[in-house]
Amino acid sequence: MSRKFLALQAVALVLAAQAAVAATRQQESVAAKLSYDVHYLASGALEGRFSGSEGATVAAAFIADRFRDLGLKPSGDGGTPYEHFSFIARVHPGPGNALSFDLQGGPRIAKVEEEFRPLAFSSSGSASGEVVFAGYGIHAPDLAYDDYAGLDVKGKVVLVLRYSPDGDDPASRFQPHMALRRKASEARALGAAAVLVATGPVGAKETAPVKISFDASFADSGLPVLGISTPLAEALFAGHGFNLAELQQRMNERKEPASRPLGVRADLAAAVVQERADAVNVLALLPGADPALAGEVVVVGAHYDHLGYGGDGSGSLAIGVRAIHPGADDNASGTAGMLEIARRLASHPPARSVLFAAFAGEEEGLLGSNTLVQHPPLPKDRVVAMINLDMIGRPKPGPALTIGGYGTAAEWPALLERLNANHHLKLATNKSGFGASDHSSFYAADIPVLFLFTGAHEDYHKPSDTADRLNYPGMAEVVGFAADLTVRVADLPQRPTFQKVADEGAGERRGFKVRTGAIPEYGFEGPGVKLSGTRGGSAADKAGLKAGDIVLRFGQRDIRNIYDYMYALGDHKPGDVVTLLVKRGASTVELQVTLEAGGGGAR
Ligand SMILES: [Zn+2]
Repeated sequence: MSRKFLALQAVALVLAAQAAVAATRQQESVAAKLSYDVHYLASGALEGRFSGSEGATVAAAFIADRFRDLGLKPSGDGGTPYEHFSFIARVHPGPGNALSFDLQGGPRIAKVEEEFRPLAFSSSGSASGEVVFAGYGIHAPDLAYDDYAGLDVKGKVVLVLRYSPDGDDPASRFQPHMALRRKASEARALGAAAVLVATGPVGAKETAPVKISFDASFADSGLPVLGISTPLAEALFAGHGFNLAELQQRMNERKEPASRPLGVRADLAAAVVQERADAVNVLALLPGADPALAGEVVVVGAHYDHLGYGGDGSGSLAIGVRAIHPGADDNASGTAGMLEIARRLASHPPARSVLFAAFAGEEEGLLGSNTLVQHPPLPKDRVVAMINLDMIGRPKPGPALTIGGYGTAAEWPALLERLNANHHLKLATNKSGFGASDHSSFYAADIPVLFLFTGAHEDYHKPSDTADRLNYPGMAEVVGFAADLTVRVADLPQRPTFQKVADEGAGERRGFKVRTGAIPEYGFEGPGVKLSGTRGGSAADKAGLKAGDIVLRFGQRDIRNIYDYMYALGDHKPGDVVTLLVKRGASTVELQVTLEAGGGGAR
């Protein structure tokens, strides 16, 4: 062995060691950068980045500044960095709520707030009619229990009690029927003009009017729904020879309805004000280096919004807690990752253009990504793929990474295998292009997607999702992988071939007997249920339902909102053929859906 060779080998070894040190340093510095961005986005100053809030606005400006510093092209409205959209952020009672009764002893005008208030999902409007007591408002043929049996409620004002003959026991067989949304839906289906809801006097802990905050659907229940106080409800029974407490006691003991007309007339008006907020996506384009391919675009997206202070109806899993939800992993991590990919690519653009998108409104139902898909800054057919980063900050050792959308392009398996030969991540894959994040909006529009995710954890949607709990070195490796992935996709000689995944498994939530495989667009404000797409090979897919369809009737039920749709599913069993009335563009069509068995599988 020559000394010269040994000397050369020594030099080579030193160089290799230096390269390794440089690579480690680079990883260290990437981890530090990611840590910095996550700590900033998840800081108390940004107050949990609730869409449309001041904290979210500050976050959006931070992202826009980064894009600008990298020399990217602002691609929001009118050449600004921001794409605006509005959504219903909260609802509150407006002026003009009124409720009065024509009692035997004379008229009784109820006091707003003290004796009644509209529920958040009430329609605004007025109604008058005879008051009919419909027990717990439960119509459950499957349980052989029907508070509406033999009762005519058409055009009448229905009074129902909260809960069930088993009280509020969550283990009760009546559990699925206790939701007030459901009670309103049943009453409306039977032709009621309005619904009054009261807490029954038996075992009542509170007697104030029911207060139900804003929930997951922006669409109202299709009729006025007022919560009334227990004493006011009791007053409607005066002079009848029976009182509410006795009737309720009997229903609870015998598990038997005690419905009846009350011989009282009600006049009411419900006024609910929907408070809209303005939110923004932050969009920036990195023009492609190859003139022949630069007209095509790969979208790299991450939502930057989170739950603000949490609370009822926010999606927080910290029940009854009002505190900043920092959303460090969800999704300051993906936002920081997206910014790091932009930084790496900005100086060496790949062949195709890359659109970087920081979405708002994800937590309210993928509103921002849906806005981008509906109103893209460039023709939609030029978007060749979407890569979504949502919760990438807590990789387990490996580091482990889950990739969704694996089945949505013919090229993905080979491309990912080749890429990971360099990265050595512990990959798990999931074929479906649908999931509870923004890539769903793109897949529904027939765009191939990849969804990068490092897994759920106990701090998910809680104030404890803090920046100190992330694994930054692991995240740096995931982001390195994501950056190379973006380049590979943007450099593909041919655009990836979209595939609808043949069998995308259970979609609707656990516990449904049947499913259709239709994917609702959560931001739709109704009436009806608008579909953002259908799962490949599902009943809805086979029936010919399409993205953009609005379901107005499902079997016998008129569909005002997503809840009506869920209850309609509950009316059926697998194998039932159901006729759907669907609004498609300017026309309406009827489609036959053969329902499939629902059951297991997470969302
Ligand atoms: Zn979330």
